Amino acid sequence: QLSNRLKIVASYLPKKANFADIGSDHAYLPCYVCLHDEEATAIAGEVNEGPFQSARKEVRQQGLSDRIEVRKGNGLAVIEEKEVSQLTIAGMGATLIATILEEGKRKLTGVHRIIVQPNINAIVLRKWFLENGYELVSEDVIEEEGHFYEVLVADKGASSNPYGVEDMEKELYLGPFLLRDCSEPFIQKWTQEKNKLTRVIGEMKKASQPDQVKINEFTRQLQWIEEVIG
Ligand code: SAM
Repeated sequence: QLSNRLKIVASYLPKKANFADIGSDHAYLPCYVCLHDEEATAIAGEVNEGPFQSARKEVRQQGLSDRIEVRKGNGLAVIEEKEVSQLTIAGMGATLIATILEEGKRKLTGVHRIIVQPNINAIVLRKWFLENGYELVSEDVIEEEGHFYEVLVADKGASSNPYGVEDMEKELYLGPFLLRDCSEPFIQKWTQEKNKLTRVIGEMKKASQPDQVKINEFTRQLQWIEEVIG
């Protein structure tokens, strides 16, 4: 049974997807997609031997070896230019995901849609998309076993700017779509973050040489959160 987190990632792939899942671990996501759509094809990329072998085993056991290729390598090194049309990268920090995208940029020519599920720091990816010709077209946030996960979907060269003119930094931090939807998991996520930030700022202020720049940055973030959830 695939986690809800990965089911949401899968739901943003089109029918007949031809995608690469980077950091695929057991290749559960590509297997799920290909089992539900007999015209879908995928490449599962893994940098580590253990997960690479698990992915190979899972694909073989599911009888999907003709439609899912498991390849070993770092980030986008496992794909050729124009080989896939969509990309999924889930379950890592946003900084690692952004590094994978940045280092593999020239492989993205044929990639129309990128779906990412960063565990933390989604702002890093919203900025990466903005600076690299991918436009955020959808966002989701879900809670699973006490953790909150954000899913971001970006299309190459889409033309509907999701950001308002007022406070772009705030929208980059909270997510323009998520901010507008203001769903229950969104409120819960930011309530948790608010408590964490309040604690961190309190501790930073007590330091013998407080880092005022960081304190100001966190205080600004806290204000954004409070503007939304009170
Ligand atoms: N994507 C799956 C999910 O969301 O459940 C697995 C997430 S798991 C926490 C992260 C996986 O990414 C690990 O299997 C790890 O080996 C792989 N990984 C980390 N850095 C990578 C990189 N630069 N290139 C390819 N895979 C990587």
